[in-house]
Amino acid sequence: MRAPSPAHAGRWTIHEIIDAAVLVALTAAGLLHRESPGTWYSSLVVSFAVLAVPVLSGAAIVTWLSGRFGTRIQGQRSKPAPMAREAFESARAMYVAACLAAWPLTAWRLGHPTGLVWDLDGHGVSMTRVVVQTLVGVVVIDAWLYWKHRLLHTRLLFGFHKSHHVFRDPTAFAGFAVAPVEALLTFWPILFLCMPEALHWAPLYFGLVVGFVNLNFYLHCGVTLSWVEKTLPRVFLNTSAFHNVHHARANTHFGEALYLWDVLCGTRITGQPAQETAAESAPV
Ligand SMILES: [Zn+2]
Ligand SMILES: [Zn+2]
Repeated sequence: MRAPSPAHAGRWTIHEIIDAAVLVALTAAGLLHRESPGTWYSSLVVSFAVLAVPVLSGAAIVTWLSGRFGTRIQGQRSKPAPMAREAFESARAMYVAACLAAWPLTAWRLGHPTGLVWDLDGHGVSMTRVVVQTLVGVVVIDAWLYWKHRLLHTRLLFGFHKSHHVFRDPTAFAGFAVAPVEALLTFWPILFLCMPEALHWAPLYFGLVVGFVNLNFYLHCGVTLSWVEKTLPRVFLNTSAFHNVHHARANTHFGEALYLWDVLCGTRITGQPAQETAAESAPV
């Protein structure tokens, strides 16, 4: 399937204009904070540092490791990967996530209750219930991420997603390299943390976030480690070989964390190992 071409409006495409408007709107939204816009903007700075620094330094470590270990999926590179561009776009997506995280962080700094707690005592819920609720939430959000990804591959919306597909043979720096609209569609559940009724147990929540970030590094690192490729499918998670097929072919393997949705919806390539498929589809 060929990638749909975006609609153009002058030098910028209409999608790029909307992406820029989203960045401006998310930044300006802090002015609307009823109590303390200043606290909101300092929370934005803290959130961005807390998100971007580990993501970029983690990507650097995974890229270094993937140059020394594992098997290259698409063979030797004919030219260097555009890591600076990948890193810029991942940092921009972290800025979108920071604009969202600034809301619950500001609420917490101002002494208001939020949906994130370290201790469940006094909240009237059992550990089992919170764990089950969280895991159900992960499955529901991952289903949303699958369908969001498929929608972004339609002719109308591909302009919001095409920048991720510039990287046909990605590195770990491309793990979060998505444009602002896609970042907003991905990270909006952060706002649930503003709601005290939506209880998140912090150790489990941060554990899942760290796990998701590391999975995303592996999905984009461009190499496979045989023991990881065998282990992840046992817990229904995507692998590097599996997601690399999406970068090489673009019209299949849309799942973001779980491969379940590709199996259920018939968007998984069957009949040959994903690693061979990605290698065959690689540009020469
Ligand atoms: Zn990707
Ligand atoms: Zn895609």
